[in-house]
Amino acid sequence: MTLVPSAAPAEQVLEPLDGPEHDAVNRARELVARIDDETAADLAARTEFPADLWDWVAEHSLHRVGIAEEHGGEPADIVAKMRIAEVLAERVGVLAWVWGISNCFAAPLLAELADEPTRKELLPGLAAGRRRFAFGVTEPGGGSDLFGALDTTLADGRVSGRKRYCTAAASADHLFLLVREAGAPAGGTSGLAFALVRTNAPGLSMSRVPTPSFASSFGTYEVDLDGVAVDHAFTGPAVKAALRTVLVEERLLIPAIVIGAAHGALRRALAYAARRTAFGTRVDSYQALQHQVADAVMDLETARHYAYAMARRWAAGEPVTIGADVAKSRSVDAAQRVADVAVQLMGGIGFTRWGGVEHVWRDLRAFRLAPITEELVRNRVARSLGMGRD
Ligand SMILES: Cc1cc2nc3c(=O)[nH]c(=O)nc-3n(C[C@H](O)[C@H](O)[C@H](O)COP(=O)(O)OP(=O)(O)OC[C@H]3O[C@@H](n4cnc5c(N)ncnc54)[C@H](O)[C@@H]3O)c2cc1C
Repeated sequence: MTLVPSAAPAEQVLEPLDGPEHDAVNRARELVARIDDETAADLAARTEFPADLWDWVAEHSLHRVGIAEEHGGEPADIVAKMRIAEVLAERVGVLAWVWGISNCFAAPLLAELADEPTRKELLPGLAAGRRRFAFGVTEPGGGSDLFGALDTTLADGRVSGRKRYCTAAASADHLFLLVREAGAPAGGTSGLAFALVRTNAPGLSMSRVPTPSFASSFGTYEVDLDGVAVDHAFTGPAVKAALRTVLVEERLLIPAIVIGAAHGALRRALAYAARRTAFGTRVDSYQALQHQVADAVMDLETARHYAYAMARRWAAGEPVTIGADVAKSRSVDAAQRVADVAVQLMGGIGFTRWGGVEHVWRDLRAFRLAPITEELVRNRVARSLGMGRD
């Protein structure tokens, strides 16, 4: 049970963005209107993949967003995807990834890398919500030095190696794995390839990495690959470009998710603080709290507009690699602060499951590490300014 009622829509605090909305954003709104705070609290407390949420996303035809019409999809750019992610996250927090992991990684990778028969084989199932994908890039040797640590090898149509933090792998049908072709020099980007494998393929095993936050419902997994037969291997120079596409789009979607999640937490906290009294006064009338909220919301709103500005540039075909990193960094920072203030506004209740905000505060922490750490973002910003390498 949660102690706070549904309150104002997201737009009450956050400025509407310019331009028309994609139809799918309205379908996302219809979906979240079905999820009351009690259901949202139940979803947040799960320790297993929220298959019902996945199905609701399918019922609202959201898995098809961003996929070409001839494959059962509905074209959409990154801005529309961010709006959907933000609307979903406002209600279900970072569980909005239930939609993002398959749609936002697998769909662009297949569109950029696969031949037409492979697209026809896989994309309609993804669009209809019948196929789930997970994405394995990181290895035990390290995620920051991705290419230096990349040790999973593709040889004769089989992959061997180990992936770590493969989120939602156990509930996926397919894994998209970043690998290196056998014989290519270690380190660097030579011989990069994507291997698409089935999660039930012989030689593939996985074990769950114990994590306290949102990954406790998706699960994040260590995946061992021992000569696993590859359904499809994608090689050649297009791999690097496709990897860049998904890494940039992931760093633009994260702002939408963390900002939506933070705003949802703030909405619940404000509703509570308007009803709570201390010393005979509504606690939301104390200026000490109001200024904390105002500072955090100003930063959130600034980060939000920066992220959408980068997304519009990316959708127009401009390179925004550093801009996407900055969008991720600033939005996670601002969203964490908003979630922290939401906990503070509610006092002790804020720290309990009754308040419906503590999971957001906890979940957002992961995004300072993933998919790129805050230190690596700063390194990239410094390099873009021409500063020396250590
Ligand atoms: C909940 C969760 C879900 C995830 N899901 C996925 C997934 O689905 N798929 C996937 O592929 N990966 C996933 N990841 C992995 C994630 O992308 C990595 O954790 C991240 O890239 C950091 O890599 P690492 O953990 O190996 O840290 P390391 O690379 O070991 O870094 C450790 C520390 O050293 C710092 N550091 C490293 N190099 C430098 C440097 N040059 N300068 C300054 N500091 C440096 C880092 O910033 C960090 O603070 C997930 C991680 C988490 C926590």
